[in-house]
Amino acid sequence: MINRDLAVQVKRLMPSRERDTDRNSPVSMWTELDRLRGYPEDTAVVIFRTRGCAWYDFTSCSMCGYFNDVNANVSDENLMNQVDRLMDFLSGQKVLKVFTSGSFLDRREVPERAFNYFVDKVSTKVDKLLVESRTEFITQENMERLRDSSMDVRIAIGVESTNDKIIRDSVNKGTNFKKFVDAAKVVSKNDLELRSYLLLKPPFINEENAVQDAIKSVYDCAPYSSDVSVNPMNIQKNTLVEKLWKRGHYRPPWLWSVARVLLNTVDAPTEVLSYPTGGNSERGSHNDKKDPELLKLIFHASLNQDFNKLREYYDISDRRSYETYISAESSLPVPYDLDSFIRKISGGAVSI
Ligand code: SF4
Repeated sequence: MINRDLAVQVKRLMPSRERDTDRNSPVSMWTELDRLRGYPEDTAVVIFRTRGCAWYDFTSCSMCGYFNDVNANVSDENLMNQVDRLMDFLSGQKVLKVFTSGSFLDRREVPERAFNYFVDKVSTKVDKLLVESRTEFITQENMERLRDSSMDVRIAIGVESTNDKIIRDSVNKGTNFKKFVDAAKVVSKNDLELRSYLLLKPPFINEENAVQDAIKSVYDCAPYSSDVSVNPMNIQKNTLVEKLWKRGHYRPPWLWSVARVLLNTVDAPTEVLSYPTGGNSERGSHNDKKDPELLKLIFHASLNQDFNKLREYYDISDRRSYETYISAESSLPVPYDLDSFIRKISGGAVSI
């Protein structure tokens, strides 16, 4: 389940968790559109500052830079103060998505007292809640506690890929697809919903294989999921992926690839969506030229589950540069950022 050499390399890049950040305020709060109740609506999002993911004690996922936000000394009181800040922030939104730099259901990260305080407070304002967790914390006990709240709850799991080799040798997630299936059954047994997050284009995989893996993973996760969210890679600081990218060994996926995954999974027996973080930026999913219209259509299709306009745009657009890239990259023995490589050999500076 673990590639030890990869795990060690990822660990080496991680900064210390001892730092002087505000422990009484969440990392971030904002609102955005999502469709957790079957239609697009204003949704509050909070990232609580915690001690961080249990996996950080050993290593991290190769793309995960959430450790940049953790604080090793967050106490119960600090977390409860963060909940109070969230309560002040909520202004009529009935849907809330909760992230930590790890797992909201990990009792070491969010201890019992803070968890109960959160549920008591938030359930007075929120009708629908999404919380994210690694599979090992999706226990019967944790599900019962959420089920017994007055809120509808959707559990989110970062599946990333259903290919165990990719999980081990590319994502470094320390898990496998069977664990996801087992966790999904616990969620379902308790009549809670499940969102599966997939990662489009983990490192060491070329663009075409990444697209095919994401499409297959959507269909593998669909029977267990209320929805599947496809997250194209965005490059976060101090990660292995950032290191590869800076050296020209990694390029984030093209927006055309995101569109292809969506358009090739419209028949999946669940909702499939994608809200590309950092879309059209160098660190996020982008084409050879900025394409605001395509990004807008990806969001629109995802929010409304109507893929017609995206399909039309895809069909009428000139995608030759994308197709050339796919074909050239597929002929290489290892994936490479061809744009960066060409700039290098032509003498152009690569600014990072
Ligand atoms: S499990 Fe989640 S929070 Fe933990 S290292 Fe992986 S991506 Fe980051």
